[in-house]
Amino acid sequence: MDRKKFLRHSAAAVLGGVALGSCSQREADIQKIDISKKYKWKMVTTWPPNFPVLGEACQLFADWVAEMSMGQMTIKVYGAGELIPGLEVFDAVSSGAAEIGNGASYYWAGKSPATQFFTSVPFGMNAQQMNAWMYRGGGMALYHELYRKFGLIGFPSGNTTVQMAGWFNKEINTIEDFKGLKMRIPGLGGKVISKAGGTAVLSSGSEIYTNLERGVIDATEWIGPYHDYVMGFHKIAKYYYAPGWHEPGSVLENIFNLRDFESLPPHLKSILETASARMNLWVISEFEAKNNEYLGKIQSEGNVEIRQFSQDVMNALKKYTQEVLGELASEDEFTKKVYDSFTSFAAGIRNWAGYSEKMYHSM
Ligand code: CA
Repeated sequence: MDRKKFLRHSAAAVLGGVALGSCSQREADIQKIDISKKYKWKMVTTWPPNFPVLGEACQLFADWVAEMSMGQMTIKVYGAGELIPGLEVFDAVSSGAAEIGNGASYYWAGKSPATQFFTSVPFGMNAQQMNAWMYRGGGMALYHELYRKFGLIGFPSGNTTVQMAGWFNKEINTIEDFKGLKMRIPGLGGKVISKAGGTAVLSSGSEIYTNLERGVIDATEWIGPYHDYVMGFHKIAKYYYAPGWHEPGSVLENIFNLRDFESLPPHLKSILETASARMNLWVISEFEAKNNEYLGKIQSEGNVEIRQFSQDVMNALKKYTQEVLGELASEDEFTKKVYDSFTSFAAGIRNWAGYSEKMYHSM
């Protein structure tokens, strides 16, 4: 937009002339809303009941929706295993057995490889950049296009922010040190570790501590300082490596049964979307505040050495990541479309971040 156009546009916006037509139509629609009908919905989640931050946020979401709708919609939240197992959330909401689900889209990679781009991919974007792609960079339209095929609609509901690379009982000085390393690391990060000669091991959250303590695995990633501290990894690992190259900003999601969502009056749709956005902000803020506090605890207790991967190690992991993502993009046409949107937005925003965040943080 040139300068003259910008000034004209701004003046019109100030006078409120831009949206008058659509505004009166919207007001007329709002007058017709029936607010007497009550909705009692179920929310199934992939997290253990009351899981720190992620589970807590689901209950806050339910509270906010009840408040904002003045009790017209109430939501009962179920932890994983309370109504259905955590990994059945997608199917349960898709079939309408529950109206709402909470988790992360990369859990559903078996439904479409493309889902992984809507959570996080190795060397992808951070929380702020994922929000920019999802809300304002074309990501949301692709996400909705994909989920519509499964009778769902989803909205971001949080982000873990940059995770940590994980806990190691073996030093990682060069990429060669990954050879023969048994590491608990799921998803695409695991594929990258395999390319580097390591073995990606899957263990559920409850088994990781014992496996690391007994040497069944040499290393594990989990989330970040807060959740990792609660798991007690700082008591049994020698090194805590940064940064979480494999999950630089994992998006959490609220998913809704599409038919149920579409049947709602507009104000309730708006409330669900707005409460999801508030949840996104709350989760990001809570992660930043808690990780800040718990990294300090890990540092001050002094049992573990906090290290950074060398640039050579990062470059090698990046090269393997490009191979893994290239293979992913070749799986089907839609995944290629998402890959193209994601990678072109990521390249652009990395250029901008080079002058904004990166330059600022390097001062
Ligand atoms: Ca993780």
